[in-house]
Amino acid sequence: MKCTLDKLYFPFYYHLKYTDLKIKNKLKYLSLLHKIKTLGKPLIHNILKYTFGYDSFRGQQEEIINHTLDRKDALVIMPTGGGKSICYQIPALASEGITLVVSPLIALMNDQVLALKQLGVKADSLHSNLTQEESKNVYESLKSGELKLLYMSPERINNEITQRFLSTLDIGLIAIDEAHCVSVWGNDFRPDYAELASLRNIFPDSAILALTATADKATQDDIVKQLNLRDPKVFLSSFERKNITTYIENGIKRIEKIKKILRNYYDASGIIYCLSRRDTENVAKKLVSAGYKAVYYHAGLDSQTRSKVQREFQNDEVQIICATIAFGMGIDKPNIRFVIHYNMPKNLEAYYQEIGRAGRDGENSEAIMFYSWGDYIKLKRFIDEGEANEEFKKVQRAKLDRMWEYSSSSDCRTNLVLNYFGEYRSEKCGHCDNCLNPPIKKDGTTQAMMALSAIKRCNEKLGIELLVGILKGSYRAEIKQNNCDKIKTFGVGRNISGANWKNYIIQMINQGIINIDYTNSSNLRWTPLSKLVLENKLKVDIVDFVPKTKEKKPVKLFTDKKDLDNSLLAIFKKWRIDLARKNNMPAYIILSNKTLDELCRFKPTNKLELLQIIGIGEAKLKKYGNEIIKIIYEYQNQG
Ligand code: ADP
Ligand code: ZN
Repeated sequence: MKCTLDKLYFPFYYHLKYTDLKIKNKLKYLSLLHKIKTLGKPLIHNILKYTFGYDSFRGQQEEIINHTLDRKDALVIMPTGGGKSICYQIPALASEGITLVVSPLIALMNDQVLALKQLGVKADSLHSNLTQEESKNVYESLKSGELKLLYMSPERINNEITQRFLSTLDIGLIAIDEAHCVSVWGNDFRPDYAELASLRNIFPDSAILALTATADKATQDDIVKQLNLRDPKVFLSSFERKNITTYIENGIKRIEKIKKILRNYYDASGIIYCLSRRDTENVAKKLVSAGYKAVYYHAGLDSQTRSKVQREFQNDEVQIICATIAFGMGIDKPNIRFVIHYNMPKNLEAYYQEIGRAGRDGENSEAIMFYSWGDYIKLKRFIDEGEANEEFKKVQRAKLDRMWEYSSSSDCRTNLVLNYFGEYRSEKCGHCDNCLNPPIKKDGTTQAMMALSAIKRCNEKLGIELLVGILKGSYRAEIKQNNCDKIKTFGVGRNISGANWKNYIIQMINQGIINIDYTNSSNLRWTPLSKLVLENKLKVDIVDFVPKTKEKKPVKLFTDKKDLDNSLLAIFKKWRIDLARKNNMPAYIILSNKTLDELCRFKPTNKLELLQIIGIGEAKLKKYGNEIIKIIYEYQNQG
């Protein structure tokens, strides 16, 4: 009997030594597990279910894991939230030997190790923030063969003494996270990463798995070259984030629009990115006075305040964080429902990385960006006044121009971004504003003639604001001073709203009918095409400005919140936050929101049922099972 059990149930306990199990006490439990028909499934499926609590692999995960288990090199390109971590965590558990994970950020490393420990996995980290004693303990557990996963900073793994020690161990796999940092073509080159090139020679028997979410074709080729990967298979997933709906709007009355958007988001987490520190503070202040739990975050705050804000956001104690781009790296929060850009970002890489922080849990999320000509000018000034050499500035300016074209485009947004990253396709995405609400083109030749005529009659000395003022017939001081109220075209466009006029002019700039002289107060000028328009030899198409925030319906989550028991959810949230505070760890590492939702929907009353809940594997069942069942029991039997 004992022997049968050993063979039969061993898969569930692959990460425990057989002697660790008190089979007798577990008999009942084991026979229950048996009923869930795990038997006969490959080991990696059991690990997915009983360690991570998930039912099936996503995308190419299984293929990558099997490839890695054969100790072969690979490059994995997968968008944020795609599930890269499991691609090296499961091989680490399913094979002999130790897996090393190179990660650039200590905060991220710590969170991952914490989360793994919560799952009962033997994992630890080595980096410069550890005391000697702590490092020693890690070395000890490596030597004893206890540790399965070791997270390391690049400078640590590049250290010769460390390398000598590691080569005495059986290192099955080396995973290099954020692998784009190895390439100067990427967005975030790190010299420490460049030194990882030597790993291939030092650990000839280990597989190397390079992973990244941001790499265009040039960067991908460079990663393979820089890391000396051995005949690597490239696993390229689409960059498309199907669960993120993208909206882009002009920046008129941003705060009002944001408030309107937030009405759809009772209590849901979101980030609002601003260009300046001052804006983060202003926006947060306005939202607080409108009744939202909002805070601000920027590099000017002391590090204690920054960690406090970050932790509160991670624990859902604060709903909205208004931040500069200093916020985000190292944020692994799965349930961010919206990312709003208060201003246009400096390039599409930054934009896509920032919106990618939404919806890591796979639920529907939104990315809303506001942009204005003012943003463009400001970003351009940052580049011009920066310290970089002219060659670099040229590239940055071109990237900024692409960002502007993207913002003001009426084509599918997703395709524009995918094309930018070298993933070419033409079918529409169906989850961007231009797909959901296609702009209707109309003949705008008359409007173009009005604008061009006003520009010429005022001697090409107008910026966008002034031109709109003249067309609308405004008697602002600047207009009167320059006698622009006397020209023939003054007030000819008063029937069109200011917002629409601005939009039309931007479209005309994009079509090359009007040019902007950046070197001269951004005055509008004629181009060789302007004359053709006025001679009626060139037709101009324009699209109308539709205020998208007004039309939006509340976001529908994939998981239906309908039959969710909200009072029970509140109890679980309180229980979780108390635990998080007591153990000093982010709440989502204890149990994710998705897990809480399922608990409140299915109300499991025994361990077998509990094990069917997403995110509940053996370790969490053991740690929290009794308490969860007790909470549900008491809730159902109260009063
Ligand atoms: P990435 O590193 O690619 O951004 P993560 O590895 O952090 O993504 O995974 C994103 C989220 O998806 C995590 O909460 C993770 O636990 C979850 N996840 C990954 N794989 C699966 C799966 N097969 N089934 C369900 N959830 C998964
Ligand atoms: Zn689209």
